[in-house]
Amino acid sequence: MIRYECDKCGERLTANDHNRFIVKLEIYAAAGHVDLDTADEGDTSAALDAVLEQLRSADPDEIEDQTYRSFRFDVCDNCRRKLLKQPLG
Ligand SMILES: [Zn+2]
Repeated sequence: MIRYECDKCGERLTANDHNRFIVKLEIYAAAGHVDLDTADEGDTSAALDAVLEQLRSADPDEIEDQTYRSFRFDVCDNCRRKLLKQPLG
């Protein structure tokens, strides 16, 4: 039997426990796409070169942290209720 525990308070839970809830958290950059149609070709090329140079020297984990991260937590009913009242703690 797979055993679970609440990631907030440590309460023991089971796989089909009606007291077990899953919390998913996604964090991603709010900035959307770059509108290349409004820039002239010289500006676009220079901007792209600058981005590529930053990516070459950057830490891949840091890039991932800045663009997209997801988390999954198991919580008990009591902690679920607390999260719903104050999701960001
Ligand atoms: Zn809990």
